[in-house]
Amino acid sequence: MGTATAGKSGRGTPAAWRNWAGNVTAAPARVVTPTSVGELQDVVRRAAEDGLRVKAVGTGHSFTAAAATDGVLVRPQALSGIQAIDREAGTVTVAAGTVLKDLNLALAREGLSLTNMGDIMEQTVSGATSTGTHGTGRDSASIAAQIRALDLVTADGRLLNCSEKGTDEEREVFAAARLGIGALGIVTALTFAVEPLFLLTAREEPMAFDRVTAEFDEHVTENEHFEFYWFPHTGNCNTKRNNRSQGPAAPPGAVSSWVEDELLSNGIFQAVNSLGRAVPAAIPAIARVASRALSARTYTDIPYKVFTSPRRVRFVEMEYALPRERVVEALRELKRLVDGSDLRISFPVEVRTAPADDIPLSTASGRETAYIAVHMYRGTPYQAYFTAAELIFTAHGGRPHWGKVHTRDAEYLAGAYPRFGEFTALRDRLDPERLFGNDYLRRVLGA
Ligand SMILES: Cc1cc2nc3c(=O)[nH]c(=O)nc-3n(C[C@H](O)[C@H](O)[C@H](O)COP(=O)(O)OP(=O)(O)OC[C@H]3O[C@@H](n4cnc5c(N)ncnc54)[C@H](O)[C@@H]3O)c2cc1C
Repeated sequence: MGTATAGKSGRGTPAAWRNWAGNVTAAPARVVTPTSVGELQDVVRRAAEDGLRVKAVGTGHSFTAAAATDGVLVRPQALSGIQAIDREAGTVTVAAGTVLKDLNLALAREGLSLTNMGDIMEQTVSGATSTGTHGTGRDSASIAAQIRALDLVTADGRLLNCSEKGTDEEREVFAAARLGIGALGIVTALTFAVEPLFLLTAREEPMAFDRVTAEFDEHVTENEHFEFYWFPHTGNCNTKRNNRSQGPAAPPGAVSSWVEDELLSNGIFQAVNSLGRAVPAAIPAIARVASRALSARTYTDIPYKVFTSPRRVRFVEMEYALPRERVVEALRELKRLVDGSDLRISFPVEVRTAPADDIPLSTASGRETAYIAVHMYRGTPYQAYFTAAELIFTAHGGRPHWGKVHTRDAEYLAGAYPRFGEFTALRDRLDPERLFGNDYLRRVLGA
């Protein structure tokens, strides 16, 4: 979290930049939109000559200042689009600025899909993977874990083509740069594993908090994708189980779509949150009514239509990855905290899972993981809630999402990630002058 201040470039008024949530702003010295990789390499070399730092941004959906810069801000729009589909290898290669929605739609037209994804598809592929964006999965992991190759412009202006099959350097860079928080260089293209388009049957079912938490392991084991939302101030949850299905496709009906989309996520939810912000004392009663408005529903559709949905109500969010076996206890502590305090929380708490993966800075690196995410409506003071929640999460060995509000520093994170030193050693080699540095990276990775 933080605000980057304006740099002095002597090249006119710096253009302001702000993130989706509006809690981070920056005033870069220059804003550039390169149209080719060669142009981007020139941007990097020129910035180094001028003593300016460089930062590629995505669509600004991070709640941390990961993308903020006072130097040269590189916009992704002109480096986007599908570059190649290799059906035999089961891969798609896309330019780094491609928005996930465009990727998902293009893949669906080709009869293909990613295996797993997060809740929305407004982010760029490079921004999403750089902070470890994930959905929920028993066997399938984050979007970064689905990367098979990547191209990276490094601080000396070189373009590295990296995969597991390359030279020692390329293999090492590939391993770390799949989730690099922008610290190792500028990603220009990503190759993802894809598979033939499939159908998922989603079963949404309200369930009591005590039951979901008691049965959590069973739900995770029995379903390919299990997640649930707990409504603070109530004992109510909504569960969602997504499993592959032979079909036929049976999208949700208009009424249930409206309830999910408007009541719980967007239009009416916006009004309810505004009311809650004005009259916090009304929040527990509203939460009880809203959580009881849920009803069970089942539908079958292609993956991105089941995994993702629009989120028009703006909020700030903190999310921690915990060892999976600690998540139920941590959530019960969070519930006791909310029940015993005068906090008024109008947003549901989301719980998801991921299998262990092999990416050094992945929040699921080397361990079976479950995530707890807390949210606050934009404009509502969130510090007291997030501070108390973070104390619980860190006591359980939590690792913060790199793109969501947290207060951890390099010292804490070095203890939370066994391969932290591997990443920072590579950063020292690739970017000794910290051309790609910013205040956020100094805090979380060290000077
Ligand atoms: C409404 C909403 C819903 C969300 N849902 C989820 C979810 O379900 N699961 C989840 O895990 N997260 C979720 N997030 C968080 C979000 O996915 C991440 O913060 C993601 O990083 C945002 O991608 P972006 O394209 O906006 O990147 P930005 O936020 O603009 O940038 C993120 C980081 O990527 C770096 N970067 C961007 N492009 C490049 C590049 N070409 N080369 C190198 N570095 C680069 C930036 O420098 C920065 O460090 C959500 C956020 C919002 C606002």
